[in-house]
Order: sequence, then structure tokens, then C-alpha cells
Amino acid sequence: MELAQIIITEEEIKQRVAELGAQITADYQGRDLFVICILKGAAVFMSDLIRQIKVPVEIDFMSLSSYGASTKTSGVVRMLRDLDREIAGKHILVVEDIVDTGLTLSYLKENLMVRKPASLKICTFLDKPSRRQVDLKPDYCGREIEDYFVVGYGLDFNEKGRELPYVAIVKE
Ligand code: 5GP
Repeated sequence: MELAQIIITEEEIKQRVAELGAQITADYQGRDLFVICILKGAAVFMSDLIRQIKVPVEIDFMSLSSYGASTKTSGVVRMLRDLDREIAGKHILVVEDIVDTGLTLSYLKENLMVRKPASLKICTFLDKPSRRQVDLKPDYCGREIEDYFVVGYGLDFNEKGRELPYVAIVKE
């Protein structure tokens, strides 16, 4: 895998994650938060983010099928791993790496709402609003980006590049 350009530096990520954590802390004062990390891409972001959130946090993980070896979405969402715990009556924050077409999260939102949480919000590290196919707006977003395929900070290209501490565009 060859990288074309770094678009978000390690320092910028750190700064933005701290800001998001402060915003979430303010919004959830006096409440406990149940964070759902969408594997695998959001694992890096989630682990940094929860350390910037100053209200009590519980975490759980879900895994949904993603692109596989291609960089195009199929529109088909499969659940590969479900939550360990029930979420009824809890304040849920879904943490995602990137929202592209929005199909994955709109499916997930519907699936989770059936379980009757007290509230449900979405926090995504990156957003590509120009690619949206369904009406879905994240409640918290680290950064909006153009329609590039990016890797790093949890995001992969064929399972490579997740460990990079910055976000970079993959060379076509
Ligand atoms: P959506 O259902 O919103 O189209 O797709 C969201 C998922 O697509 C993300 O969780 C991620 O797995 C994948 N994805 C979309 N854009 C990118 C990208 O630029 N880089 C990487 N690595 N994954 C992406």
C-alpha cells in the first residue's frame, strides 16, 4: 500500500479528540454513558475518546460487515458480532470510524432503537457527507473529508494501515 498524502496529523487528531471528549462530557453531565464501538475501524478512536470523557462510561463492541477487499460499498449489512449486554434505558453513544454512504449506521440505528435505549447518538471520527445515500447526520464528528479513500487511526486498506497514528489518502 502506497500513501499519497497525510491529511490529518497525529497532533490534529489529538486536539480534535480532546475537543470531542469535552463536548460529550458537557452534554452527558450527570448521566452514565454506554459506548458502542463498531469494530474494527473505530477501536483506535474509541480508546482515545473514552479517556477524554469525564462521565462514567461502559463499553461494548459490535461488528458489522464492511467493504472486505474492495473499496466500494455493497449496501448489504451483516451483523458479525452483537453486544454482550442489554441497552434498554441506557444512554448510547455509537462510535464509528467513518460515515460514507450512511447505510451501515442507518441499519444499525434501526436495529438498536428496537432495544429501547433512553437515548442514542452517533460519534464518528470522519465523515464524507458528499457520499451520503440515506438521511443520516452524526451528532458528533471529528472531521469532514472529501471523497478520498483514507487509512490510518484505525481505518484500513485490506486490513493494512490501522496502526498509523495519522490519516492518509491511499495512492490509487
Ligand atoms: P457506509 O455504510 O457509511 O457506506 O460505510 C461505512 C464504512 O465503510 C466504514 O465503517 C468503513 O469501514 C468503510 N469506509 C468508508 N470510507 C472509507 C475510507 O475512506 N477508508 C476506509 N478505510 N474505510 C472506509
